[in-house]
Amino acid sequence: MSKTYIPQALRQQAYEIFQARCAYCMTPEWIIGTAFTIDHIIPESQNGETIAENLCLACFACNSIKGTQTATKDPQTKQLVPLFHPYHQDWFDHFTWQEEGLLIVGLTPTGRATINALRLNRPLLVNARRWWIQAGWHPPDNPHSS
Ligand SMILES: [Zn+2]
Repeated sequence: MSKTYIPQALRQQAYEIFQARCAYCMTPEWIIGTAFTIDHIIPESQNGETIAENLCLACFACNSIKGTQTATKDPQTKQLVPLFHPYHQDWFDHFTWQEEGLLIVGLTPTGRATINALRLNRPLLVNARRWWIQAGWHPPDNPHSS
């Protein structure tokens, strides 16, 4: 979680780039009804800068679970891999939806490791997704496949 003041312009930019969605679990802010946070992708404690390329929008849960993690083991290969970098990488290259949007599945070592590290299929969130799917609000479309 950020300790540094983040200028309004950078905040606004993160909202635009990530379309008011959590850059990790893809939950939109309007569904949650609570303001999202700005995450330092590389934490400040590891000299991550407060610049657009190191900031993303994140829901409170993803941001706090992520903490200062930047790498973790891919559960499949047991190799240490970097976590998903929402600014430099595309979500749909590393993740996909399964069971009509109930679960996030990793397509790459980084995708699988990030799902584990940030618990992107945490039970409360999966339960909420069930309702969002019924309402027709979820999952978000892949902007590259339409
Ligand atoms: Zn999230």
